Amino acid sequence: MFTAINSLGQKICLMSYDYNEIKGFKDLKWFCPACHARLILKNGIIKQPHFAHTTLETCQAYSENESELHHDLKCQLAKWFQQQNYNCQIEYYLIELKQIPDLLINHHLAIEIQCSPLSIQRFNTRTKNYLDHGYQVIWLLGEKMQIKSRLTSLQLAMCAFSINSGVFLWQINQKQLELIEMIHVDLERSISYQKKTFAFFQGNIINHLRLPYRIHSNSLSGNVDWTMTSLIVRKGLYYANQQWMCLHPFAIKRG
Ligand SMILES: [Zn+2]
Repeated sequence: MFTAINSLGQKICLMSYDYNEIKGFKDLKWFCPACHARLILKNGIIKQPHFAHTTLETCQAYSENESELHHDLKCQLAKWFQQQNYNCQIEYYLIELKQIPDLLINHHLAIEIQCSPLSIQRFNTRTKNYLDHGYQVIWLLGEKMQIKSRLTSLQLAMCAFSINSGVFLWQINQKQLELIEMIHVDLERSISYQKKTFAFFQGNIINHLRLPYRIHSNSLSGNVDWTMTSLIVRKGLYYANQQWMCLHPFAIKRG
C-alpha cells in the first residue's frame, strides 16, 4: 500500500514523493488509514517504496498482501488519470463502506485491480457495497487472472453487458488496458471473444472505459426496438450457456 497516516496525523501517499524525501520519513511512525494498526515503511532499492501491515489479521480493508505488479499497475493507472486532470485518489479509505478501492476517480468511480484469486462472495459483497453507496466500480483483471479457454467463476461474475460490447470484462497488463468483448460461450463451454487494447497513456482513459456504453453512429440509437433487442439478448444468453441466465438481470441493470 502507498497511503498511510503518520504520527503527526498527516495522510501521505508515497507516490507524491521522491526517493530522498521518502528516506526522510524513516523516523516517523505510520498507521493504516483503515484499521489504525502500525505499518512498516519499506524503502528498499529493488521494490517501490510502500507500506506494509505487520499482520493483516485485524485489517478488514486490506485483505491481501499486494504484489509488486499490483503496486506497479496502480501507479501507472493513477498517473494516466492524473495526466488527464481527473481527481484520482490512491487507496482512499471510504469510511462508510470500510473499503479501500485501489483508485477513486472524481470521488465516485472506484477502480479495482484484481491480481490474485478472490472469492465470489467477497467480490459480490465489495461490488454491492459500492453500488449501494452510490459509487460505480470497474474491476480490472490482472495478468494471472485473465481469460484463457474457459471462463472462471470470478471472470463470469465480473462480466457486464452493453449493446455495444455484448458481454464484456476488462483486463490489465503491464502495457495496456484490454476490453474483452462479445464474449460467447458455446455449448461445450469454450469461449470466443474480441479484444480491444489501449496502451497506457494513449488517449483518454475515461473515454476508453466508457467505450462499451458509448453511443456510436453504427450502434443502436434513436428508436430502438427494445422488444426485439431484449429478445435477441435473451436468445443469445439462452443458447450460450445456462450460466448466462444468472448473469442476465445484473447485466441488463449495468447495461
Ligand atoms: Zn489496516
